[in-house]
Amino acid sequence: MLIIGAGLAGQRAALAAAEAGASVAIVSKVHPVRSHSVAAAGGINAALNPEDSWESHAFDTVKGSDYLGDQDAIEVMCREAPDQILYLEHLGVTFHRNGTGHLGTRAFGGASAARTYYVADITGHAILHVLYEQLMKRSEQIDRYEEWFTTDLLQDENGHCTGAVCRDLRDGALEVFNAKAVILASGGAGQVYEPTTNGLIVTGDGIAQAYRIGAKLMDMEMVQYHPTTLAGNGLLITEGARGEGAWLLNAEGERFMERYAPNKFELASRDVVSRAEQTEINEGRGFGDGTVALDITKVPRRRTLEALREIVNIGRDFAGVDITREPIHIRPGMHYIMGGVKTDSDGETNVPGLYAAGEVACVSVHGGNRLGANSLLDTLVFGRRSGVHAANRATQMAMPSTPASRIADTERKIDAIMGREQNGRRIGAIKHELGRTMNEYVAVFRNEEGLTTALEKVRRLKEEATVAGIDDRGSVFNQDVIAAIELGYMLDVAETIVVGALERKECRGAQWRIDYPGRNDEEWLKHIDISLNGGDTPQVSYSPVTITRWQPEERTY
Ligand SMILES: Cc1cc2nc3c(=O)[nH]c(=O)nc-3n(C[C@H](O)[C@H](O)[C@H](O)COP(=O)(O)OP(=O)(O)OC[C@H]3O[C@@H](n4cnc5c(N)ncnc54)[C@H](O)[C@@H]3O)c2cc1C
Repeated sequence: MLIIGAGLAGQRAALAAAEAGASVAIVSKVHPVRSHSVAAAGGINAALNPEDSWESHAFDTVKGSDYLGDQDAIEVMCREAPDQILYLEHLGVTFHRNGTGHLGTRAFGGASAARTYYVADITGHAILHVLYEQLMKRSEQIDRYEEWFTTDLLQDENGHCTGAVCRDLRDGALEVFNAKAVILASGGAGQVYEPTTNGLIVTGDGIAQAYRIGAKLMDMEMVQYHPTTLAGNGLLITEGARGEGAWLLNAEGERFMERYAPNKFELASRDVVSRAEQTEINEGRGFGDGTVALDITKVPRRRTLEALREIVNIGRDFAGVDITREPIHIRPGMHYIMGGVKTDSDGETNVPGLYAAGEVACVSVHGGNRLGANSLLDTLVFGRRSGVHAANRATQMAMPSTPASRIADTERKIDAIMGREQNGRRIGAIKHELGRTMNEYVAVFRNEEGLTTALEKVRRLKEEATVAGIDDRGSVFNQDVIAAIELGYMLDVAETIVVGALERKECRGAQWRIDYPGRNDEEWLKHIDISLNGGDTPQVSYSPVTITRWQPEERTY
């Protein structure tokens, strides 16, 4: 099996597949422990306490999703959550222990119980390193291709996914990887926006690669703005801060969340808090730099230094603020994509042989709005399930083979990039315009006019990207050529986000259309699927939302 991506989803899938007897190759464009999962801070949800229940976790997730999440998949995730925490704990993840020595939790947004397990504010880092030890331990079954870049997925004449073409970043060599099953675990697409909380490597590669070979994407319009990011650079101040008791204040010193979420205040779900902040800013109650304040001084200093030490560093290094002594200015910023490659609860896509898990996928457990700390859970639960399912598939079939000549197509593409004249726009300039455009028109509040402008711009940028020149024409760690390929992926992803946002004419979760007020269950309680459908422009279709036991209700916090 081939697994593309070695963040939490990819590593969990690789371990599960190896345990199920498969021989695995795992590819990552960066060293695995630099995968973006390493940035995850606040924690991971599970109803593990005896007083809590998976049903309560599932209901909170359904409500958080604004009823767009598929309830069968949400049930699977919440039922399997406790086992994943115990699995990690037994492998050696040093989860926080409370005063009685039990696993301790913190509160997170949209949750009716404190069910977020954590390692200070470096939870992703802690888990990723422990899983990586396990990958190394299983090196007889799991081959690691570190700093290899997947350029294209491969298909046979029947449309089955049979592997991928990958480039060794160290010397530029291309190889065909034949595989009985391919699991995409290549993460989200944060760099489509600027600023974003996501690192430079999060460029939507897997979403675009799957889309280009006919996979359906689902709910792409659902892009999460996190309520607490630093102005300017977009760095994240974890929701863990509010979970520990921090307040949000406007420039008048008012704890404004009381007006928007009288029961939950700062711990309403993220879409609700981000909209509240943006409303305060738009109506003139924010600060001059387009922000409101997060007051972490409400958390005892000792606790902040123990449980939130990374954001103490971020505040000091990037904003010049000692968050233990004064409020810090924040605003909503792009953070996560709920949409992605459409899969079932075993990670299967509509392309036979192709699976997806983690942020690249849309199962859909997050629907219109992901609850904080449910994403790490999603990577582990559906990473594991994809690994097992794909391994079982692999035992029942012969190894497909793709002619090595398939490399020639990729070679031609790369040669064409290398050979471009230097008279087009620079890749960085196109990316910058893309990010700013998305952040202006496809953000917390949206309307037809802005979205139409965004679509026109994205389509113009797509044309400009085909002739954008590069400087480095060498083969060793040529990041210029990679940036050119990634830009193509980002533009494809951006186009599908805007098309989805234009299509959905209602307010639900992160999709807040000011020109279509209110949630409209009658017409829009459905998923928007987007595929190329054999053509070269996005085609829209719909699929039903699975409802098992929770009928849509008005959503208040
Ligand atoms: C700052 C921050 C804090 C967060 N905190 C939390 C939190 O506390 N709790 C929570 O639940 N969620 C959190 N999230 C969200 C969560 O971290 C991510 O959704 C999740 O880690 C994604 O994991 P993944 O395995 O799907 O992808 P990633 O960890 O992004 O891994 C993607 C992998 O794919 C590889 N890859 C990508 N493209 C290619 C290519 N073309 N070729 C080869 N390899 C490729 C990369 O090298 C990498 O190995 C946070 C996100 C951010 C940005």
